[in-house]
Amino acid sequence: MPDVRRWHAELAWLGAGEVQAGVLIEAAGPVLRTVTPGVAADAVPPGTERLAGLTLPGLANAHSHAFHRALRGVTEQGQGTFWTWRERMYQVAGRLTPDSYLALARAAYAEMTLAGVTCVGEFHYLHHGPDGVPYADPNEMGRALLLAAGQAGLRITLLDACYLSGGLALGGRAEPLAPVQRRFSDGTAERWAERVASLGSDEHGVLAPHARAGAAIHSVRAVPPDQMHPVVAWTHGFGAPLHAHLSEQPAENEASVAAYGLTPAQVLDGAGALGPRSTMVHATHLTRQDIALLGGSRSCACFCPSTEAFLADGIGPAAALAAAGCPLSLGSDSHAVVDLLLEARLVELGERLQTGERGHFGAAALAAAACGAGHACLGWPEAGEIVPGAVADLVTVRLDTPRLAGTAPPSALESVIFAGTAADVSQVVISGRDVVRDGQHLLVPDVPAALAAAIRPLLT
Ligand SMILES: [Zn+2]
Repeated sequence: MPDVRRWHAELAWLGAGEVQAGVLIEAAGPVLRTVTPGVAADAVPPGTERLAGLTLPGLANAHSHAFHRALRGVTEQGQGTFWTWRERMYQVAGRLTPDSYLALARAAYAEMTLAGVTCVGEFHYLHHGPDGVPYADPNEMGRALLLAAGQAGLRITLLDACYLSGGLALGGRAEPLAPVQRRFSDGTAERWAERVASLGSDEHGVLAPHARAGAAIHSVRAVPPDQMHPVVAWTHGFGAPLHAHLSEQPAENEASVAAYGLTPAQVLDGAGALGPRSTMVHATHLTRQDIALLGGSRSCACFCPSTEAFLADGIGPAAALAAAGCPLSLGSDSHAVVDLLLEARLVELGERLQTGERGHFGAAALAAAACGAGHACLGWPEAGEIVPGAVADLVTVRLDTPRLAGTAPPSALESVIFAGTAADVSQVVISGRDVVRDGQHLLVPDVPAALAAAIRPLLT
């Protein structure tokens, strides 16, 4: 019998509905067994742990590039565009080794768990050694990420990205790989599929108890349409998630139309890359027809609003996509900040700034994007709610911090989503295991020191 644990949450939002008071939660190993609201604090069984504040299901960070964490602040010097930011990002990409990537990713993932993230979708394209020479194990970089997640205590979906060409020029011409991009490419989608097969997942895509396999088409810029099919076909083998960057910049759309006579969403649709297991990341610059295509296919749209603001991408049509039928999930992408509560409220605030109206997404809808929809789009549909049978993730946000003091229980979820920060997260249980307690990471004892030690050598 797995260990049975019990918690008594002062307040809990269970993944849907209203905030509940006095919720007795029982888990057997990594799975929740019973969830009982309305239990008085003095009526709980002996040994029950108290969770003061508002307890949420686990938060999923559905779009991460772990190595971008090294660029925080650095890329805010001076001016520039997405494309000048990308040059600086490539400098760090060119320096990473499996060892330095492990150290950086472990520290970045530890920062995420401190912020309440229980599962990360790592959109991974830094596959090979410098100049594109594969490592002895061609998945050495991907394995470093899996190990990093295990050491930081959170679950991971390794979204192994196919990345073949250097981009599309505005006229639609395919550009050759720049020297640093050779690390990203397997040459062809068939060779991508061979390498990913050698990761060694089981027939369900399970890589380890904490890790599942997924795929990504980096973007229409980096994968020609005739190379998309092997990636799509691979995901059908065990129903794996398929992610792609979509229409982050107007230049991507212009190049796609020039090259193919189609928008990026239409190109992906033509390749069979849309559907309920697919997640389109950013989805910022869409036509009305694109929105209808994504909604009709029930593709998920992953918004990364802080990154989209930092990179001057634009504000995507979140409300229109949701109305069309797309679930929404959230990612911190470039990790300019790591705070899923911030990402959640920025979706609504972006809509307000664009429309001059309030109230497009309520706190529960935004929390559902961060929790249930985020996990579902990473291939963990059994996580992201506090219900019997779900994965035992609990994220407790203190309500006695300077930001949240005075919170009224009936509007506790609104307070946390619209005013809470990562720094207010105090306790994190992931798959039944304590990972953060009293704001301290239990597996990576000094997260700031780990971040500093990992980042410093990459920037000098
Ligand atoms: Zn990205």
